[in-house]
Amino acid sequence: MVHEKPDAGTTPWTTRDSLELYSVERWGDGFFSVNERGHLVVRPLQGEGGTIDLVETVENLRRRGLRTPMLLRFSDVLASQVKRIHATFDDAISTYGYRGRHHSVYPIKVNQQRQVVEELVAIEGPHAIGLEAGSKPELLVALALLDRPGAMIVCNGFKDRAYIETALLAQRLGRRPIIVIDRFDEIDLLVKTAQELGIRPHIGLRVRLSAQGAGKWLESSGRRSKFGLSPGEVLAAVSRLQADGMLDCLELVHYHIGSQITAIRAHKEALREVSRVFVGLRAMGADALRIVDIGGGMGVDYDGTQTDSNSSMNYSPEEYARDAVDTLLSACEEAGIEHPDIITEAGRAIAAHHSVLIFDVIGHHGMVPLQPPMPVVEGDHRILRDLTAVGDALTTDNFLETYHDALLLRDEAVNSFALGYLDLVTRGRADDLFLHICGRILAEVSRLPEIPDELMGLQRDLADTYYGNFSVFQSAPDHWAVGQLFPVMPIQRLDERPTRRAILADLTCDSDGKIDAFIDPEGSKPVLEVHALDGAPYYVGVFLAGAYQEILGDLHNLFGDTDAVHLRLDEEGEVTVEHVVDGDSVDEVLSYVQYERRELVEKVRRTIEKALRRGEIGLEDSALLRRRYEQGLLEYTYLSHDDR
Ligand code: PLP
Repeated sequence: MVHEKPDAGTTPWTTRDSLELYSVERWGDGFFSVNERGHLVVRPLQGEGGTIDLVETVENLRRRGLRTPMLLRFSDVLASQVKRIHATFDDAISTYGYRGRHHSVYPIKVNQQRQVVEELVAIEGPHAIGLEAGSKPELLVALALLDRPGAMIVCNGFKDRAYIETALLAQRLGRRPIIVIDRFDEIDLLVKTAQELGIRPHIGLRVRLSAQGAGKWLESSGRRSKFGLSPGEVLAAVSRLQADGMLDCLELVHYHIGSQITAIRAHKEALREVSRVFVGLRAMGADALRIVDIGGGMGVDYDGTQTDSNSSMNYSPEEYARDAVDTLLSACEEAGIEHPDIITEAGRAIAAHHSVLIFDVIGHHGMVPLQPPMPVVEGDHRILRDLTAVGDALTTDNFLETYHDALLLRDEAVNSFALGYLDLVTRGRADDLFLHICGRILAEVSRLPEIPDELMGLQRDLADTYYGNFSVFQSAPDHWAVGQLFPVMPIQRLDERPTRRAILADLTCDSDGKIDAFIDPEGSKPVLEVHALDGAPYYVGVFLAGAYQEILGDLHNLFGDTDAVHLRLDEEGEVTVEHVVDGDSVDEVLSYVQYERRELVEKVRRTIEKALRRGEIGLEDSALLRRRYEQGLLEYTYLSHDDR
């Protein structure tokens, strides 16, 4: 396989080249572009409104005292995505003459941040959404935030009596909680609690389909999935509800075949199966059954390849909606029953685009030595002389052969050193010579339109390391945990050719704390094209970070939540800051692991006193240390710009 080089040739670099290099239009869904200043911009309303210059915004926010890394949330993007999903279903419904309606229910687990949920539940009119709760805490959030009469709350997850009582009593507040039986055991508790409270529940059944999802999360589905009733249990559930006079409370049938469905075929198969379950339940007398909840899973095309790779999807939301409507329509027409309403629990597809993490690069390390290697002379070791000769013979036509020869000599140097036949100085010089030759080979290669496969590894091995002021574990945990690709790119100098290739290392002391897989039209690449650092701040954005990343993020090395800012365009097209959510300070993070600021300060004060008494520290240094310590506890957990 060959890899196309976007920076081949010597024509001037334009912003269009950057749009293509970083695949912005492939993953950006119309929300992102590059302006004439070479800055990345956000179009929160896609084509309809103004743009937000990310570089200006970050600089502005820093002047106001906010700190990098920072998470920028674009509130309008959430509403745009909700509307888009509605519109795709509405179109499919009118195209096919479907007689049911579509409702969106937002699964709180995807991003539970108060401002995010508030933004979503504030959407009014035909696009108004309900909420899905996957746990008792999420139910409590849903109850407090969703105060529209008749608003739907789909109650999933493990349930105890308190969960069920709370959900049932929410009906008295005018809400419409649908309690989904996820596991057969829950029926008893639901029936008993409802009878005791004298409330007729709205009941849903989650079915365990044999159809499996596709992609990383396919284990959420299939016969061994954690939740859902098997066909036999569905029959038993119907008998049980019938026996208790509650079959007329069964209103919804639900499934979820996993997040990020990458292949449309999985969606189609699940729909075919659930439509048969729906028809079957109606035939068994479940006359109140009027809703099919097809769960979440609508994908996000993170890498912009439109394929069934794990970070992409091989279908559009429009195709997804048409399949749902068409499949249910056919099954219902055949059975002669009315068309059910369709609920989608799309989470990722609603939330991913609205958040961008911005971090600054704090330094770099280059593999190829900047200084030319020490000249090799007559009496030097044969390996050094041979390496020099190999390097001298390098031309545009023989770079692969040169690479093979240099590699052999480098390995010889490594082995000879290990066996004691080469001293450290010679080994170091051989390494320098080898890297220097490789650097020249890569320079030759970068002028070619394509990189031979064999040299892709060299590109990775010789890539710079750009150190970012962020933590992968806190801000992009899925990259570390499941190899999820996110679009990552510099947000400035996009009118300038990127001349370096780098991996991005974070601040943690963990060797996994890095981003070393990047999106690429061919799937993924091990390095990111970046610009040479020139002393000015250099910001990198991690895009499509709005789903799951914040809540799954952890405190590795005690790097805490970042500052988060909610931005919106006002009527005049000006950026307004709606909310600022301060990131964690060091003492807050320490309190999560049970350290108390005052106690720590006191312990250090006593230690300093002892050192003073022993004369090991002077008065001024002791004062400086105390100040630093106390101040440090109040600061941001990430690196500060003040003293850089
Ligand atoms: N509904 C249920 C029951 C889920 O478990 C999930 C998450 O996996 C979702 C909806 C949201 O899925 P997604 O964010 O992929 O749309």
